[in-house]
Amino acid sequence: MKIICIGRNYLPHIQELGHEVPTEPTFFLKPDSSVITRNRPFFLPDFSNQMEHEVELLVRINKVGKCIQERFAHTYYDEIGLGIDFTARDLQKTCIEKGNPWEIAKAFDGSAIVSQFIDKKEFADLNNLNFHLDVNGKTVQSGNSGEMIFSIDRIISYVSQFFTLKTGDILFTGTPKGVGKVAINDRLEGYLEGRKILNFRIK
Ligand code: MG
Repeated sequence: MKIICIGRNYLPHIQELGHEVPTEPTFFLKPDSSVITRNRPFFLPDFSNQMEHEVELLVRINKVGKCIQERFAHTYYDEIGLGIDFTARDLQKTCIEKGNPWEIAKAFDGSAIVSQFIDKKEFADLNNLNFHLDVNGKTVQSGNSGEMIFSIDRIISYVSQFFTLKTGDILFTGTPKGVGKVAINDRLEGYLEGRKILNFRIK
């Protein structure tokens, strides 16, 4: 399986990082070795001094597809989840400055926290999904899928022009504003439509 992460999909987050607003989705990959599931802890790696959380809505692909038209994209996923796209912001800044790829900042072991998945039929409107992240009991990021610049269906259509999507692939759909540094002993709790589906510690 592969993990496809959309960058720059919420306007206020683009503004907080000082980036340009994209006209097409921007994305990058994480390897399967980046995944942490079942609320297992995230161990802070020693190669970064600025490890930041990015809470994101996740979509799990349910069948193989290539060059998927946007109007059929909804048939390629049944489940929604929540994840953290951990980012070594200090390394990412250096990569951007040097024009280098981002993998050391975004695709390292443990950089993809993945929650349990929930059947999309349990939600009334996928374009109106509220989610938020609490760190040590305080809400630090909150978003709504309706605020995304590129919708889930648009992302699937766009990405599948370049990559065959396969069963089990996971899309990270971008983070709202409020990204921030984590520290040892922090507790991160993620809520999707009021349901707590992420709950893990930084170690
Ligand atoms: Mg992200």
